[in-house]
Amino acid sequence: MTDFKELVELARKISMTTSRNEKIELVSSFIKELPEDEVRHAVLFLLGRTLPPGDERHLDVNWRALLSVLKRMTGADNEQLFKILVQAVDIGDGFKKALEKFEPKRQSFLFEQKLTIKEVSSYYNKIASLRGAKSRKYKEDLLFSLFSLADKDEAEFLARNLTGEMRIGLHEGLMEEAIAKAFQIPARLVRRAVMLRGDISEIAVLAKRGGAKALESIRIEVFRPLKPMLATDADSIEEVLRELKRASFEFKLDGIRLQMHAKGGRIRAFTRRLSDVTQSLPDIVDQFSEIFGSREVVADGEAIAIDPEGRPLPFQFVSRRLRRKSDIARSAKEIPLRLFLFDILQIDGKMLIDEPYFRRRKLLEDLVDEEWLVPARVCESEEEASNFLKEALDRGHEGLIAKKLDSIYTPGVRGKNWFKIKPVLATLDLVIVAAERGYGRRHKWLSDYYLAARDEETGEFYVVGKTFKGLTDQEFELMTQRLKELAYYDDGHLVKVKPSIVVEVAFNEIQKSPKYESGLALRFARIVSIREDKTPEEAETIQNLRRIYEKQFLHKGKI
Ligand code: AMP
Repeated sequence: MTDFKELVELARKISMTTSRNEKIELVSSFIKELPEDEVRHAVLFLLGRTLPPGDERHLDVNWRALLSVLKRMTGADNEQLFKILVQAVDIGDGFKKALEKFEPKRQSFLFEQKLTIKEVSSYYNKIASLRGAKSRKYKEDLLFSLFSLADKDEAEFLARNLTGEMRIGLHEGLMEEAIAKAFQIPARLVRRAVMLRGDISEIAVLAKRGGAKALESIRIEVFRPLKPMLATDADSIEEVLRELKRASFEFKLDGIRLQMHAKGGRIRAFTRRLSDVTQSLPDIVDQFSEIFGSREVVADGEAIAIDPEGRPLPFQFVSRRLRRKSDIARSAKEIPLRLFLFDILQIDGKMLIDEPYFRRRKLLEDLVDEEWLVPARVCESEEEASNFLKEALDRGHEGLIAKKLDSIYTPGVRGKNWFKIKPVLATLDLVIVAAERGYGRRHKWLSDYYLAARDEETGEFYVVGKTFKGLTDQEFELMTQRLKELAYYDDGHLVKVKPSIVVEVAFNEIQKSPKYESGLALRFARIVSIREDKTPEEAETIQNLRRIYEKQFLHKGKI
């Protein structure tokens, strides 16, 4: 059994180098030597995760829980700890500094115990399995005993891991290469296996156990969601046609992406974050069963909210539907959803993702009545495509998605085969990283939000704007509760939170500004919707914001 300390030491080394190759080498030599049953945990922990993606349980260890463990260990009060946490770069650093300053009390164990990788995983499992009234207290007890086994560096790692922010500059792409190198498998094969399974930790185990052969034999499994294929932003139809010459343009519906799986009369619906939302969507399940009967199929589509005339409603309605956890039948009546399919990934055991788009679409059209399909038209002239865009907008949709006719379906990839064209002033999906308590009427809420974009190279978040506009009172209330759960720092006014909630933000202009470290600031930012369906990793990148800034500047120069 491998000591946890070794993993912590590895993470330290990874964070010390900026070289991709060195990072890959460090990780690959470590996992190569690791026993098979520890590989999975090591891969997850290094990527800042606690449980594999398919596990529906959550640890929900928030700042409050960590703070109370810290209080218990150090005997310090809130004020003393806040002083340290304010200066820390994150909760992990804060934990370490606090343990350095105050001699920690530890739970005593019957035998001298050393923390191992497996032991940490078993604590995580116990915490994730807690249910019921006293679970908060039990969770804190478990955390106290876990942290009691850890030294300062291990505690730092644990606190970072539990809040999902490793800050060691190791993302999934590098991990894929490290797995490839460790087990002498082409990186392409590892990437493909991860795409198909959506769980890199499982692929690492399979690679160790069965090498390239094991990965080659991976197939889509019904009821195990794959990551959805994504589209790149395009500025205009002209740009898309220049790239693709001829393409299929589909309506872009503004709803929730759903990957539908069906087999033997059982149907499940998964979001783009791969969560199973079947329970909340009885109407969609009925529609899918009407479309495919009891056939075995995996299909991709979008569900939108519709009014009594069948016209699409804004995204907020869909998100309201998904938030409801009780009286689902009633809310399905109040806000009916409708499924529109645009792709098929597997039918009767035959995998279709390596077939070209036009064949998959043709098959879908042969199998399914037109009323269930996202409208599509193959265009090669700008005029044709513009007319189709106008039609989409007139019918209340968001824009178009252009798809390369001979492209295969690449799960999880945002590439040059699908382009989205949104003519209305683009909005940005940004992440809330901090909030301030409001004034006056808003004093009871966290109502002023710091909005951040992601650095695609380091994965860190940089603030680009602040807003208190766009939410209803009820939404402020809910947002406040959620942010408090995500907080890792609170000085009574400013609350810093784990980047987790994605919001769609409208703005008038991007400005250069020294106000934030990013060097950019949004003018008149306002929240348009809360994107429950998106992860912070899918948020706008700082690199893209810079591009938009430059373009906007060019445009202005011309007027
Ligand atoms: P965005 O959310 O702006 O990144 O745009 C990509 C999303 O558009 C996808 O994840 C889908 O949820 C949605 N979408 C709507 N219509 C389509 C379509 N015809 N093809 C693919 N994605 C679509």
